[in-house]
Amino acid sequence: MSAAEAWRLSAASLADGVRAGSIGYQEAIESGWEGPAARWEPDVHAVVHADPEVRRRGAAGSNGGPLAGVPVLVKDNLCTMDYPTTCGSRILGGYRPPYDATVVARLREAGAVITGKGNMDEFAMGSSTEYSCYGPTRNPYDLERVPGGSSGGPAAAVAYGLCPIGLGSDTGGSVRQPAAFCGVFGLKPTYGRLSRYGLVAFGSSLDQVGIFARHAGDVALAYAALAGPDPFDATTRLGPAPGVSDWDRGVRGLTFGWPANLWKEGVDPEVVGALEQAAACLERCGARRSPLDFLPGEYAVATYYLVATAEASSNLARFDGVRYGFRHPESDDVRALYTRTRSAGFGPEVQRRILLGTYALSAGYYDAYYLTAQRARTRIRREYEAAFARCDFMLMPAAPSLPFRLGEKTDDPLEMYLSDIFTLGANLAGIPGLTVPLDLSAAGLPRAVQLLGPEDSEPLLLGAARVIEVRGEETRLGRDHLTEFAWPTKR
Ligand code: GLN
Repeated sequence: MSAAEAWRLSAASLADGVRAGSIGYQEAIESGWEGPAARWEPDVHAVVHADPEVRRRGAAGSNGGPLAGVPVLVKDNLCTMDYPTTCGSRILGGYRPPYDATVVARLREAGAVITGKGNMDEFAMGSSTEYSCYGPTRNPYDLERVPGGSSGGPAAAVAYGLCPIGLGSDTGGSVRQPAAFCGVFGLKPTYGRLSRYGLVAFGSSLDQVGIFARHAGDVALAYAALAGPDPFDATTRLGPAPGVSDWDRGVRGLTFGWPANLWKEGVDPEVVGALEQAAACLERCGARRSPLDFLPGEYAVATYYLVATAEASSNLARFDGVRYGFRHPESDDVRALYTRTRSAGFGPEVQRRILLGTYALSAGYYDAYYLTAQRARTRIRREYEAAFARCDFMLMPAAPSLPFRLGEKTDDPLEMYLSDIFTLGANLAGIPGLTVPLDLSAAGLPRAVQLLGPEDSEPLLLGAARVIEVRGEETRLGRDHLTEFAWPTKR
């Protein structure tokens, strides 16, 4: 098989081909680079570190595991020994970690090869990948629009065909929102199912590594290889992760929540149309719709931006010019070294978050802000529990709009924060969420929906995602990976 065919394959088919010997490891790893990347990468700018020599060594050391010969782009906040890890920030310029993140190590054990590092908003703070020190990533479906964020690089790369699987991180939606904007699947697992060891911390109680893929089955394949306890991360859940081998199980007999009060206003009609279409697919395959009223997302936005900034202000204290990466050259004493390094090393959004978080945690305001946010978080968690007592999973928008234009929200932080209104709740509650791409709007932009379920409901969410993937045709449930993917055309 030639690279010209191989780059279009799902990860499952590619690994099958590699194991059967119909395609070599090296050809499989290079297929995306020889195929679509030459055309797309100069404009899209999804990748920030790549090295053909590292890929060649990776291919030579690969094995016949479940991800044999599968190239994977990982977000630049996941530690890799063979590439720099810089979180899209000047302050980590040139930093090379001495170890691999657990999820990276598990990818390698399964036979995958890291094809490069994906662009991101600095320290994963943002919703558009415009706050990267390397410059923005663009949406492959419309180069004037953003790919979403903060994991915009891996999302865009999977969409245009560089690799069938990408890894991002999701603290408040950074996998699910870019997945929706780029028209691919994006899973944020249950908190503690994927190890955070080697994921540079942003909001530790919210962060989860997430998976991008073009097929529901590939999400399951990657989840199976990555999920499970890790002795290096004390917050991973004990006991084995739920099995996802029956990801094509369908939805017969299940009930899905339909919180229509959430999209009464402020949501693009294209998004509402996508929700109706997805609901119809689920109903055709035997699921029942249960209308319910749900807590408006504004509460989640307020709560999240206190908890996440508080945790970030503490997590980012370690970047002081002494231990990692960049150090300001003109500092006479240690205080000036810290101040100058951090002022020049962090971009404006990261500085804004550190200030907000430090303020919320300060002695005089701790009770009014941080503690109140923790109480609100408990309320939000209970709200989800109450909803899942009435339904098996919920259908939600992944974002209130289709991809917006570059520059549209960078001058108004609050507007940017509001684009996460439908994703933040899952991180506050620790539950899994999965973005499912549906089709393209009349203007050629991806439309998607989000599925949310209780803890450890990944198998169920994948079953529902497959039903939407095959457009509610029960006869097409099953394991073929021939489902057509809507490849972007250049505009
Ligand atoms: N966009 C949200 C933020 O800026 C979420 C980011 C994320 O999930 N990493 O904080």
